Amino acid sequence: MADDPHCQYFDCFKTTTENPELSMFKFPIEESMRNIWLHNSGNVKLLSFPKEELFHKMICELHFRPEDIKKPKKKGSTKELKVTAVPYDYNLEKSTAAGMK
Ligand SMILES: [Zn+2]
Repeated sequence: MADDPHCQYFDCFKTTTENPELSMFKFPIEESMRNIWLHNSGNVKLLSFPKEELFHKMICELHFRPEDIKKPKKKGSTKELKVTAVPYDYNLEKSTAAGMK
């Protein structure tokens, strides 16, 4: 099965095809980390996916803190995430943006 090139973060439909400069990060293998990614992505559809399928899903770099992304050693090489990195919490971002509603 081919990797899904779309970012899985809720309301983000970026692809590396359209944004070659954008780095995409796969869901972590480690279960507790993966669950945080799932929760934070705000994409509830992902919860029904078998984990084998999730390993092919990705979230783009826009949803991570810049300090969680390691600088590539060489110019043009792929960026890497710190092992402790998790995406921004979609629900938290949303409630912050919407005030106290
Ligand atoms: Zn994205």
